Amino acid sequence: MTTFEIEPGRLFIGGRWHDAADGARGEVVDPSRGTVLTTVAEAGPADVDAAVRAARETFDAGHWAGLSGRERGRILHRVAELIRANADELAELESLDVGKPITLCRAVDVTNAANDYEHYAALAHCLDGATRDTPLNALAYTRREPLGVVAAITPYNFPLILAGTKLAPALAAGNTVVHKPADETPLSALYMARLLQEAGVPDGVVNVVTGTGPVTGEALLRHPGVDKVAFTGSTTVGRHVAGVAGQALRPVTMELGGNAAHLVFEDADLEKAVGAVIKAFVFNTGQFCMAGPRLLVARPVYATLLGILAEAVPGVPVGDPRKPETVVGPMAGERHLRKVEEYVELARREGGRIVCGGERLDLDGGYYYRPTVIADLPNDSRAVQEEIFGPVLTVQPFDSEDEAVALANSTPYGLAAGVQTGSLARAHRLADRLQAGIVWVNDWAMLDPAVPFGGVKDSGFGREYGPEALASYTKVKSVVVSLD
Ligand code: NAD
Repeated sequence: MTTFEIEPGRLFIGGRWHDAADGARGEVVDPSRGTVLTTVAEAGPADVDAAVRAARETFDAGHWAGLSGRERGRILHRVAELIRANADELAELESLDVGKPITLCRAVDVTNAANDYEHYAALAHCLDGATRDTPLNALAYTRREPLGVVAAITPYNFPLILAGTKLAPALAAGNTVVHKPADETPLSALYMARLLQEAGVPDGVVNVVTGTGPVTGEALLRHPGVDKVAFTGSTTVGRHVAGVAGQALRPVTMELGGNAAHLVFEDADLEKAVGAVIKAFVFNTGQFCMAGPRLLVARPVYATLLGILAEAVPGVPVGDPRKPETVVGPMAGERHLRKVEEYVELARREGGRIVCGGERLDLDGGYYYRPTVIADLPNDSRAVQEEIFGPVLTVQPFDSEDEAVALANSTPYGLAAGVQTGSLARAHRLADRLQAGIVWVNDWAMLDPAVPFGGVKDSGFGREYGPEALASYTKVKSVVVSLD
């Protein structure tokens, strides 16, 4: 492992590094050891105001929106190249900050962040309008224009990727941004500020304000200079954010919580299905909005699949995220570990049978929890219905396709769903019937910037990725020119 100083730990406003006006700083903890890694500035209302003003002035001056899409795309391409050139350091930083296995950080987080910028670099000059046929004696056409200043608020679990899913399309469309990363995992956002500047993104286009949700996030959310709020986080906070933005009549995108069902039918390739089932609930230590923590299994293969899981899950390598063989690292923070413990205790009280796991793993003072499989829970138990957000899988049997669909759609969430089946007809039937923003067939978590994702029901609205995300950072203007 290389060692590097985690600097500057300050706010990035107008292309310069600043301390918070009141000097406030917050601690960042290494979740694999429970020790303080470093501190970063905590932005107060005055700092947020300075960041929004910088973004506003830069937008109004046309330093970014005034470039052609192709020129913006060229700069965003450079961002992707710089992410790849600094992949090792970025992966180490993300691993230290979030507790993610280093192998995962390289293969998933860094790779996808680079892909995000590359994808939207390519789309930056595809922001075209349309001509409209009308009975008017006029030429009528539409233009797609940037919205202005985007407030991007991101969660703790995929800091680098989820910043990219917002910044890349917002920048491609010509907006300026104030990014508030999660207070627990802000380091890659600060690193990226440096890379964006190095790539040639003009000062003031991207501003980063670190700090807490109630202080920094709230100040940003309520700032009158913000034209759009792009939020990813919990459903509880999302409801509040959408309410405030609604009062201000600002557009929002809401990427919220999930509790996806993973359906295994008796005609599935069970060996392959088991791999997908395990990946779906242990990936990123279960701290994945699109995880598959609710396994629904056709009765004829229920006992067999439970038996395979009981043997296979305890063999998943849990431990030090710095070791290349580690698949499951610690939870990203102590509060997340405690939440998982509370849900597993609740599941026991609700009648759940712990098939494996069900306890912490004592290692180096870190926030580790053993991957856990729980059977025999009734569908209305809280451990089934609510988002646990840890490496916990509940398993329920079903007797018909209709029952499987009813169980799958029975929670308030609707972010993702998965189907394991050998029947093409069943796969398409279920893709139609499952209430989710994305449905995977015969695998899990297949994601790409070209494919939109997002929620229905309490999982939110709006889409990230794809041309859909780019469009959501624009407004349509109609122009009608008289031909008289
Ligand atoms: P969170 O809602 O606690 O925080 C998300 C962000 O909002 C953080 O930056 C936080 O500081 C900020 N925030 C908190 N209070 C705020 C306020 N009053 N005003 C403005 N900002 C405020 O979420 P979290 O615990 O960081 O992340 C986990 C949650 O995010 C899970 O529910 C997960 O499902 C969800 N998530 C969803 C997606 C998706 O794409 N749908 C992706 C990742 C995570």
